[in-house]
Amino acid sequence: MSRKILVVGAGQSGLQLALGLQTQGYEVTLMSNRTADEIRSGRVMSTQCMFHTALQHERDLQLNFWESQAPKIEGLGVSVAAPGSHDPGPTQRAIDWVGTLDGYAQSVDQRVKMAGWMETFAQRGGQLVIHGAAVSDLDYFSRTYDLVLVSAGKGELVSMFGRDASRSPYTEPQRALAVAYVHGMGVRPEHPDFDAVRCNLVPGVGELFVMPTLTTSGRADILFWEGIPGGPLDAFQGVKDPSEHLALTLELMEKFTPWEYARATKVELTDANGTLAGRYAPTVRNPIGRLPGGGAVLGVADVVVANDPITGQGSNSASKCAAAYLAAIVEHGDKPFDEEWMQATFDRYWDTAQHVTKWTNTMLQAPPEHVLNLIGAAGQLQPVADRFANGFNNPADFENFFYEPEKTNAYLASVSGA
Ligand SMILES: Cc1cc2nc3c(=O)[nH]c(=O)nc-3n(C[C@H](O)[C@H](O)[C@H](O)COP(=O)(O)OP(=O)(O)OC[C@H]3O[C@@H](n4cnc5c(N)ncnc54)[C@H](O)[C@@H]3O)c2cc1C
Repeated sequence: MSRKILVVGAGQSGLQLALGLQTQGYEVTLMSNRTADEIRSGRVMSTQCMFHTALQHERDLQLNFWESQAPKIEGLGVSVAAPGSHDPGPTQRAIDWVGTLDGYAQSVDQRVKMAGWMETFAQRGGQLVIHGAAVSDLDYFSRTYDLVLVSAGKGELVSMFGRDASRSPYTEPQRALAVAYVHGMGVRPEHPDFDAVRCNLVPGVGELFVMPTLTTSGRADILFWEGIPGGPLDAFQGVKDPSEHLALTLELMEKFTPWEYARATKVELTDANGTLAGRYAPTVRNPIGRLPGGGAVLGVADVVVANDPITGQGSNSASKCAAAYLAAIVEHGDKPFDEEWMQATFDRYWDTAQHVTKWTNTMLQAPPEHVLNLIGAAGQLQPVADRFANGFNNPADFENFFYEPEKTNAYLASVSGA
């Protein structure tokens, strides 16, 4: 008899798991609080830039439906504004370089991807239930399914999973987030020939990320401000009108990143739902959710490890988590999915996720001198730029050259010597 699995939440991790399990012959029920059409016509949710390893997990499951249409992001650029140069302005760039990614990255609007994947799941005979699950529902389902996976993102169901204070250094949001999807962005004048994600760091103020995406109306670009709370970029709360949101985005770009503003003078929003603003505290949780009736459920991706988007890792991590859990479920065969298995399954994912959390939490702080030196050196030494860029695909590599001044210096010496 095939095993019955309930997946609660139809985002990157939940859909990837549901579709993967379905292919493996499991009897899968997927619970989503929105229909595919509601997702497709709803608000943007992310900037969802995904790097090679995470995209490969999708290819392995033949879920890369939009790969040929989505822009291929071949580079990752970093610019740093010269401290204080925005006052009185114009802001100058102290650092500006582009690293080459070994494998390209892509961003497919989650409205396109999740809606499409959800329809595929149903077409393949999966049971799709449109219902916002409550803890009381899960109590019942944990008795009727062999396994319940909670992949509901940062929503209310996280309350079932205790916060792991030892792995969560922050209790408050570290950035105010403001996203705008636009058409009409000009090319990067320095490198018009290939697409890149651009990370613009404005010391003491925040960051602007610019990247191409495939949205519901085709190719577009995303303008994404991450503002230090209480600072000049923390200005989007209460802005309800999307055109006002875009005007504010552009005004801040003109002041703090005029080199990006220069190619944004003709942009317009992709659609009335093409903006997003919010904030959340990065949090790692205990992976096992215990229900009032005694059942246990396993948390997936953002439910258990939610990092700030400053390093663009959440969807990547969701893909990696789904791949790790899928392998663990299949390997477990007919044995019961007990708490011991749940903990071991999460621990296996944490082997990768811990590096993402460490790096992301470090990037939220003002960079120490050796990191500034590293980012500066990448402007002269292309191998350094390339290695930094490829760290977005495999953040574990930062252990080798990023955190400790001795390792950074030794690495820079080895590259300049060569
Ligand atoms: C502004 C911003 C920019 C980002 N940029 C990037 C980036 O460039 N690269 C990157 O890798 N990551 C990025 N991320 C992070 C990334 O979007 C998330 O980490 C990722 O989507 C998490 O996937 P998930 O499957 O855990 O959850 P989600 O994608 O959040 O999916 C959860 C789903 O569950 C549903 N749900 C919630 N509650 C219930 C319920 N009770 N019952 C049923 N369904 C429920 C939700 O509606 C949603 O559809 C960004 C995030 C933000 C906010």
